[in-house]
Amino acid sequence: MRVLITGAAGFLGSHLSDRFLSEGHEVIGMDNLITGTTDNIAHLANHARFSFIKHDVTNYIYVAGPLDAILHFASPASPIDYLELPIQTLKVGALGTHKALGLARDKGARFLLASTSEVYGDPQVHPQPETYYGHVNPVGPRGVYDEAKRFAEAITMAYHTYHGLETRIVRIFNTYGPRMRLRDGRVVPNFIAQALKRQPLTLYGDGMQTRSFQYVSDLVEGIYRLLLSDEAEPVNIGNPGEFTIKEFAGIVNELTGNEAGTVTKDLRTLDDPQVRQPDISKARRILGWEPQVTLSEGLALTIPWFREELHRRNEI
Ligand code: NAD
Ligand code: UDP
Repeated sequence: MRVLITGAAGFLGSHLSDRFLSEGHEVIGMDNLITGTTDNIAHLANHARFSFIKHDVTNYIYVAGPLDAILHFASPASPIDYLELPIQTLKVGALGTHKALGLARDKGARFLLASTSEVYGDPQVHPQPETYYGHVNPVGPRGVYDEAKRFAEAITMAYHTYHGLETRIVRIFNTYGPRMRLRDGRVVPNFIAQALKRQPLTLYGDGMQTRSFQYVSDLVEGIYRLLLSDEAEPVNIGNPGEFTIKEFAGIVNELTGNEAGTVTKDLRTLDDPQVRQPDISKARRILGWEPQVTLSEGLALTIPWFREELHRRNEI
Protein backbone atom coordinates (compact mmCIF):
# COMPACT_ATOMS: atom_id res chain seq x y z
CA MET A 1 0.00 0.00 0.00
CA ARG A 2 0.95 3.63 -0.42
CA VAL A 3 -0.20 5.33 2.79
CA LEU A 4 -0.49 8.95 3.94
CA ILE A 5 -0.21 9.50 7.70
CA THR A 6 -1.14 12.97 8.93
CA GLY A 7 0.45 13.87 12.27
CA ALA A 8 3.37 11.57 11.40
CA ALA A 9 5.89 13.56 13.45
CA GLY A 10 3.83 13.07 16.59
CA PHE A 11 3.93 10.30 19.18
CA LEU A 12 1.39 7.94 17.59
CA GLY A 13 1.97 8.95 13.96
CA SER A 14 5.66 8.09 14.20
CA HIS A 15 4.97 4.62 15.67
CA LEU A 16 2.36 4.00 12.97
CA SER A 17 4.86 5.03 10.31
CA ASP A 18 7.33 2.46 11.71
CA ARG A 19 4.67 -0.25 11.61
CA PHE A 20 3.54 0.40 8.05
CA LEU A 21 7.14 0.53 6.84
CA SER A 22 7.95 -2.73 8.62
CA GLU A 23 5.00 -4.34 6.81
CA GLY A 24 6.58 -3.33 3.49
CA HIS A 25 4.29 -0.38 2.66
CA GLU A 26 5.27 3.07 1.43
CA VAL A 27 4.59 5.90 3.91
CA ILE A 28 4.18 9.59 3.25
CA GLY A 29 4.26 11.46 6.55
CA MET A 30 2.62 14.87 6.76
CA ASP A 31 2.85 17.26 9.72
CA ASN A 32 3.07 20.99 10.46
CA LEU A 33 5.14 20.28 13.61
CA ILE A 34 2.81 22.31 15.85
CA THR A 35 3.10 19.75 18.68
CA GLY A 36 5.28 17.13 16.97
CA THR A 37 8.96 17.07 16.13
CA THR A 38 11.08 15.64 13.32
CA ASP A 39 13.17 13.96 16.07
CA ASN A 40 10.40 11.34 16.16
CA ILE A 41 10.98 10.43 12.51
CA ALA A 42 14.71 11.27 12.23
CA HIS A 43 15.48 7.53 12.09
CA LEU A 44 13.37 7.32 8.90
CA ALA A 45 15.11 10.17 7.08
CA ASN A 46 17.01 7.85 4.73
CA HIS A 47 14.37 5.13 4.48
CA ALA A 48 13.67 4.35 0.82
CA ARG A 49 9.90 3.99 1.38
CA PHE A 50 9.41 7.01 3.66
CA SER A 51 8.98 10.64 2.70
CA PHE A 52 7.89 13.69 4.67
CA ILE A 53 5.84 16.72 3.69
CA LYS A 54 5.64 19.68 6.07
CA HIS A 55 2.10 20.94 5.67
CA ASP A 56 -0.83 22.21 7.72
CA VAL A 57 -3.71 19.86 6.82
CA THR A 58 -6.33 22.54 7.48
CA ASN A 59 -5.23 23.88 4.06
CA TYR A 60 -5.76 22.10 0.73
CA ILE A 61 -3.65 18.92 0.70
CA TYR A 62 -1.74 17.95 -2.42
CA VAL A 63 -0.08 14.56 -2.70
CA ALA A 64 1.27 13.37 -6.04
CA GLY A 65 0.50 9.83 -7.21
CA PRO A 66 -1.89 7.17 -5.95
CA LEU A 67 -2.84 6.53 -2.30
CA ASP A 68 -4.38 3.37 -0.89
CA ALA A 69 -5.00 4.63 2.64
CA ILE A 70 -5.01 7.84 4.68
CA LEU A 71 -4.61 7.69 8.45
CA HIS A 72 -5.66 11.04 9.88
CA PHE A 73 -3.80 11.55 13.16
CA ALA A 74 -3.02 15.28 12.99
CA SER A 75 -4.39 17.09 16.05
CA PRO A 76 -3.13 18.53 19.32
CA ALA A 77 -3.82 15.67 21.72
CA SER A 78 -2.86 16.50 25.30
CA PRO A 79 -5.10 18.70 27.46
CA ILE A 80 -2.45 21.42 27.83
CA ASP A 81 -1.87 21.43 24.06
CA TYR A 82 -5.50 21.81 23.12
CA LEU A 83 -6.13 24.36 25.86
CA GLU A 84 -3.24 26.42 24.44
CA LEU A 85 -4.30 25.82 20.82
CA PRO A 86 -8.10 25.87 20.96
CA ILE A 87 -8.71 27.28 17.47
CA GLN A 88 -6.09 25.08 15.76
CA THR A 89 -7.62 22.07 17.53
CA LEU A 90 -11.09 22.88 16.22
CA LYS A 91 -9.71 23.63 12.76
CA VAL A 92 -7.71 20.43 12.39
CA GLY A 93 -10.64 18.31 13.61
CA ALA A 94 -13.08 20.06 11.27
CA LEU A 95 -11.26 21.58 8.26
CA GLY A 96 -8.32 19.16 8.43
CA THR A 97 -10.59 16.12 8.50
CA HIS A 98 -12.60 17.56 5.60
CA LYS A 99 -9.45 18.11 3.51
CA ALA A 100 -8.11 14.62 4.31
CA LEU A 101 -11.48 13.06 3.42
CA GLY A 102 -11.59 15.01 0.16
CA LEU A 103 -8.14 13.70 -0.71
CA ALA A 104 -9.23 10.13 0.13
CA ARG A 105 -12.22 10.49 -2.16
CA ASP A 106 -10.10 11.89 -4.97
CA LYS A 107 -7.56 9.06 -4.66
CA GLY A 108 -10.09 6.28 -3.93
CA ALA A 109 -8.18 5.65 -0.69
CA ARG A 110 -9.47 4.07 2.50
CA PHE A 111 -9.68 6.63 5.34
CA LEU A 112 -9.02 5.99 9.03
CA LEU A 113 -9.83 8.66 11.63
CA ALA A 114 -8.00 8.89 14.96
CA SER A 115 -10.90 9.62 17.30
CA THR A 116 -10.78 9.47 21.07
CA SER A 117 -12.38 8.27 24.28
CA GLU A 118 -12.99 12.01 24.89
CA VAL A 119 -16.07 11.73 22.62
CA TYR A 120 -17.64 10.09 25.70
CA GLY A 121 -16.82 13.21 27.78
CA ASP A 122 -17.24 12.76 31.53
CA PRO A 123 -19.05 9.44 31.10
CA GLN A 124 -22.17 8.41 32.93
CA VAL A 125 -21.93 4.88 31.57
CA HIS A 126 -18.98 2.82 32.77
CA PRO A 127 -17.10 1.16 31.12
CA GLN A 128 -17.81 2.88 27.81
CA PRO A 129 -19.12 0.82 24.87
CA GLU A 130 -19.20 2.32 21.36
CA THR A 131 -23.00 2.58 21.61
CA TYR A 132 -22.73 5.21 24.39
CA TYR A 133 -23.40 8.71 23.00
CA GLY A 134 -21.31 10.50 25.61
CA HIS A 135 -21.62 13.39 28.05
CA VAL A 136 -19.75 16.38 26.68
CA ASN A 137 -19.95 20.06 27.59
CA PRO A 138 -19.48 21.86 24.24
CA VAL A 139 -18.43 25.12 25.88
CA GLY A 140 -16.28 23.63 28.66
CA PRO A 141 -12.46 23.73 28.55
CA ARG A 142 -12.23 20.33 26.82
CA GLY A 143 -15.05 21.20 24.39
CA VAL A 144 -12.64 22.33 21.66
CA TYR A 145 -11.10 18.87 21.47
CA ASP A 146 -14.13 16.74 22.23
CA GLU A 147 -16.43 18.54 19.80
CA ALA A 148 -13.75 18.69 17.08
CA LYS A 149 -13.42 14.92 17.30
CA ARG A 150 -17.20 14.42 17.39
CA PHE A 151 -17.53 16.57 14.26
CA ALA A 152 -14.66 14.60 12.69
CA GLU A 153 -16.54 11.35 13.34
CA ALA A 154 -19.74 12.83 11.90
CA ILE A 155 -18.13 14.06 8.68
CA THR A 156 -16.24 10.77 8.30
CA MET A 157 -19.53 8.89 8.56
CA ALA A 158 -21.15 11.33 6.10
CA TYR A 159 -18.42 10.64 3.51
CA HIS A 160 -19.06 6.95 4.06
CA THR A 161 -22.82 7.05 3.69
CA TYR A 162 -23.10 9.85 1.09
CA HIS A 163 -19.99 9.25 -1.03
CA GLY A 164 -19.54 5.53 -0.33
CA LEU A 165 -15.98 6.16 0.92
CA GLU A 166 -14.34 3.27 2.79
CA THR A 167 -13.88 4.72 6.28
CA ARG A 168 -12.75 3.51 9.71
CA ILE A 169 -13.02 5.28 13.09
CA VAL A 170 -10.80 4.28 16.01
CA ARG A 171 -11.68 5.64 19.46
CA ILE A 172 -8.32 5.66 21.19
CA PHE A 173 -8.08 5.46 24.99
CA ASN A 174 -5.08 6.87 26.94
CA THR A 175 -1.96 5.54 25.23
CA TYR A 176 1.64 5.92 26.36
CA GLY A 177 5.14 4.91 25.33
CA PRO A 178 8.47 6.24 24.06
CA ARG A 179 8.36 9.51 22.03
CA MET A 180 5.67 11.15 24.14
CA ARG A 181 6.76 14.72 24.67
CA LEU A 182 8.39 15.24 28.04
CA ARG A 183 6.32 18.36 28.62
CA ASP A 184 3.05 17.52 26.92
CA GLY A 185 1.42 17.68 30.34
CA ARG A 186 -0.14 14.24 30.19
CA VAL A 187 0.04 12.17 33.32
CA VAL A 188 2.50 9.55 32.03
CA PRO A 189 5.35 11.92 31.04
CA ASN A 190 4.65 14.16 34.05
CA PHE A 191 4.84 11.33 36.57
CA ILE A 192 7.83 9.56 35.02
CA ALA A 193 9.82 12.81 34.75
CA GLN A 194 8.99 13.80 38.33
CA ALA A 195 9.86 10.32 39.62
CA LEU A 196 13.20 10.25 37.78
CA LYS A 197 14.01 13.68 39.23
CA ARG A 198 13.13 12.32 42.68
CA GLN A 199 10.32 14.82 43.08
CA PRO A 200 6.85 14.12 44.49
CA LEU A 201 4.28 13.29 41.80
CA THR A 202 1.53 15.91 41.44
CA LEU A 203 -1.97 14.53 41.81
CA TYR A 204 -4.55 16.87 40.31
CA GLY A 205 -7.39 16.83 42.81
CA ASP A 206 -7.67 13.85 45.14
CA GLY A 207 -6.24 11.43 42.56
CA MET A 208 -9.36 9.26 42.76
CA GLN A 209 -10.24 9.82 39.09
CA THR A 210 -9.48 6.77 36.97
CA ARG A 211 -7.82 6.10 33.62
CA SER A 212 -6.99 2.94 31.68
CA PHE A 213 -3.51 3.00 30.14
CA GLN A 214 -2.58 1.27 26.91
CA TYR A 215 0.94 0.66 25.64
CA VAL A 216 1.56 2.06 22.16
CA SER A 217 2.34 -1.28 20.43
CA ASP A 218 -1.09 -2.63 21.39
CA LEU A 219 -2.78 0.43 19.89
CA VAL A 220 -0.77 0.17 16.66
CA GLU A 221 -1.76 -3.49 16.28
CA GLY A 222 -5.45 -2.63 16.83
CA ILE A 223 -5.31 0.19 14.27
CA TYR A 224 -3.59 -2.01 11.70
CA ARG A 225 -6.27 -4.69 12.09
CA LEU A 226 -9.09 -2.12 11.99
CA LEU A 227 -7.78 -0.57 8.76
CA LEU A 228 -7.78 -3.99 7.09
CA SER A 229 -11.23 -4.90 8.45
CA ASP A 230 -14.53 -3.87 6.90
CA GLU A 231 -15.94 -2.10 9.98
CA ALA A 232 -17.11 1.46 9.30
CA GLU A 233 -18.66 2.08 12.74
CA PRO A 234 -16.38 3.32 15.57
CA VAL A 235 -14.24 0.81 17.47
CA ASN A 236 -12.71 1.36 20.92
CA ILE A 237 -9.05 0.45 21.20
CA GLY A 238 -7.71 0.65 24.74
CA ASN A 239 -6.54 -1.40 27.69
CA PRO A 240 -9.38 -2.08 30.15
CA GLY A 241 -6.99 -2.23 33.13
CA GLU A 242 -8.34 0.70 35.17
CA PHE A 243 -6.38 2.56 37.88
CA THR A 244 -6.99 5.60 40.02
CA ILE A 245 -4.40 8.29 39.29
CA LYS A 246 -3.23 7.83 42.89
CA GLU A 247 -2.65 4.10 42.31
CA PHE A 248 -0.89 4.92 39.07
CA ALA A 249 1.43 7.33 40.91
CA GLY A 250 2.26 4.55 43.40
CA ILE A 251 3.18 2.20 40.53
CA VAL A 252 5.45 4.79 38.87
CA ASN A 253 7.16 5.57 42.18
CA GLU A 254 7.72 1.88 42.86
CA LEU A 255 9.11 1.10 39.39
CA THR A 256 11.50 4.05 39.53
CA GLY A 257 12.47 3.65 43.20
CA ASN A 258 11.24 7.19 43.93
CA GLU A 259 10.64 7.77 47.62
CA ALA A 260 9.31 11.33 47.35
CA GLY A 261 5.65 10.20 47.29
CA THR A 262 2.89 12.41 45.96
CA VAL A 263 1.62 15.93 46.44
CA THR A 264 -1.89 17.20 45.77
CA LYS A 265 -2.36 20.23 43.54
CA ASP A 266 -5.56 21.94 42.65
CA LEU A 267 -4.61 21.96 38.98
CA ARG A 268 -7.30 19.83 37.43
CA THR A 269 -9.03 21.42 34.53
CA LEU A 270 -12.77 21.60 34.90
CA ASP A 271 -14.57 18.74 33.22
CA ASP A 272 -11.74 16.31 33.98
CA PRO A 273 -13.52 12.98 33.41
CA GLN A 274 -13.96 11.14 36.70
CA VAL A 275 -13.67 7.66 35.22
CA ARG A 276 -12.57 6.13 31.94
CA GLN A 277 -12.40 2.51 30.87
CA PRO A 278 -12.93 1.04 27.42
CA ASP A 279 -15.41 -1.73 26.76
CA ILE A 280 -13.41 -3.66 24.15
CA SER A 281 -15.92 -6.45 23.45
CA LYS A 282 -16.35 -5.18 19.89
CA ALA A 283 -12.61 -5.09 19.10
CA ARG A 284 -12.26 -8.60 20.55
CA ARG A 285 -15.16 -9.85 18.44
CA ILE A 286 -14.52 -8.24 15.08
CA LEU A 287 -10.74 -7.78 15.09
CA GLY A 288 -9.71 -10.69 17.33
CA TRP A 289 -7.69 -8.01 19.14
CA GLU A 290 -6.90 -7.49 22.79
CA PRO A 291 -4.01 -5.79 24.57
CA GLN A 292 -0.92 -7.90 25.23
CA VAL A 293 1.26 -5.53 27.27
CA THR A 294 0.59 -5.09 31.00
CA LEU A 295 1.05 -1.69 32.67
CA SER A 296 4.29 -2.72 34.40
CA GLU A 297 5.69 -4.18 31.16
CA GLY A 298 4.76 -1.04 29.22
CA LEU A 299 6.22 1.26 31.86
CA ALA A 300 9.41 -0.83 31.92
CA LEU A 301 9.73 -0.07 28.19
CA THR A 302 8.88 3.62 28.62
CA ILE A 303 10.82 4.72 31.72
CA PRO A 304 14.30 4.09 30.17
CA TRP A 305 13.33 6.23 27.17
CA PHE A 306 12.40 9.17 29.43
CA ARG A 307 15.57 8.62 31.50
CA GLU A 308 17.67 8.98 28.35
CA GLU A 309 15.68 12.02 27.26
CA LEU A 310 16.23 13.72 30.65
CA HIS A 311 19.96 12.88 30.54
CA ARG A 312 20.21 14.34 27.05
CA ARG A 313 18.74 17.59 28.40
CA ASN A 314 20.94 17.53 31.52
CA GLU A 315 17.85 17.48 33.72
CA ILE A 316 18.96 14.46 35.75
P1 NAD B 1 0.99 14.37 19.16
O1 NAD B 1 0.78 15.79 19.56
O2 NAD B 1 2.26 13.71 19.54
O3 NAD B 1 0.82 14.21 17.59
C1 NAD B 1 -0.07 14.98 16.82
C2 NAD B 1 0.67 15.46 15.58
O4 NAD B 1 -0.24 16.19 14.73
C3 NAD B 1 1.82 16.41 15.91
O5 NAD B 1 3.01 15.96 15.29
C4 NAD B 1 1.35 17.75 15.36
O6 NAD B 1 2.42 18.57 14.95
C5 NAD B 1 0.44 17.32 14.22
N1 NAD B 1 -0.55 18.33 13.82
C6 NAD B 1 -1.42 19.00 14.62
N2 NAD B 1 -2.16 19.85 13.89
C7 NAD B 1 -1.75 19.72 12.59
C8 NAD B 1 -2.15 20.32 11.37
N3 NAD B 1 -3.09 21.26 11.32
N4 NAD B 1 -1.52 19.93 10.22
C9 NAD B 1 -0.55 18.97 10.25
N5 NAD B 1 -0.14 18.37 11.38
C10 NAD B 1 -0.74 18.74 12.55
O7 NAD B 1 -0.25 13.53 19.73
P2 NAD B 1 -0.54 11.96 19.70
O8 NAD B 1 -0.70 11.50 21.07
O9 NAD B 1 0.40 11.27 18.80
O10 NAD B 1 -2.00 11.94 19.03
C11 NAD B 1 -2.19 11.62 17.66
C12 NAD B 1 -3.68 11.50 17.36
O11 NAD B 1 -4.26 10.48 18.16
C13 NAD B 1 -4.47 12.78 17.62
O12 NAD B 1 -5.44 12.93 16.61
C14 NAD B 1 -5.13 12.50 18.95
O13 NAD B 1 -6.33 13.21 19.09
C15 NAD B 1 -5.36 11.00 18.88
N6 NAD B 1 -5.46 10.39 20.22
C16 NAD B 1 -4.35 10.17 20.98
C17 NAD B 1 -4.48 9.60 22.24
C18 NAD B 1 -3.29 9.28 23.11
O14 NAD B 1 -3.47 8.76 24.20
N7 NAD B 1 -2.06 9.52 22.69
C19 NAD B 1 -5.75 9.28 22.73
C20 NAD B 1 -6.86 9.55 21.94
C21 NAD B 1 -6.71 10.09 20.68
N1 UDP C 1 -3.08 14.25 36.12
C1 UDP C 1 -2.47 14.35 37.36
N2 UDP C 1 -1.20 14.86 37.44
C2 UDP C 1 -0.50 15.26 36.35
C3 UDP C 1 -1.12 15.15 35.08
C4 UDP C 1 -2.42 14.64 34.99
O1 UDP C 1 -3.06 14.00 38.39
O2 UDP C 1 0.66 15.70 36.50
C5 UDP C 1 -4.43 13.66 36.01
C6 UDP C 1 -5.43 14.48 35.19
O3 UDP C 1 -6.12 15.42 36.02
C7 UDP C 1 -6.36 13.39 34.67
C8 UDP C 1 -5.44 12.17 34.52
O4 UDP C 1 -4.29 12.43 35.30
O5 UDP C 1 -7.35 13.07 35.62
C9 UDP C 1 -5.03 11.88 33.08
O6 UDP C 1 -4.57 13.10 32.53
P1 UDP C 1 -3.96 13.23 31.06
O7 UDP C 1 -3.60 14.67 30.88
O8 UDP C 1 -2.87 12.23 30.89
O9 UDP C 1 -5.10 12.84 30.02
P2 UDP C 1 -6.72 12.86 30.01
O10 UDP C 1 -7.07 11.43 30.17
O11 UDP C 1 -7.25 13.70 31.13
O12 UDP C 1 -7.06 13.41 28.69
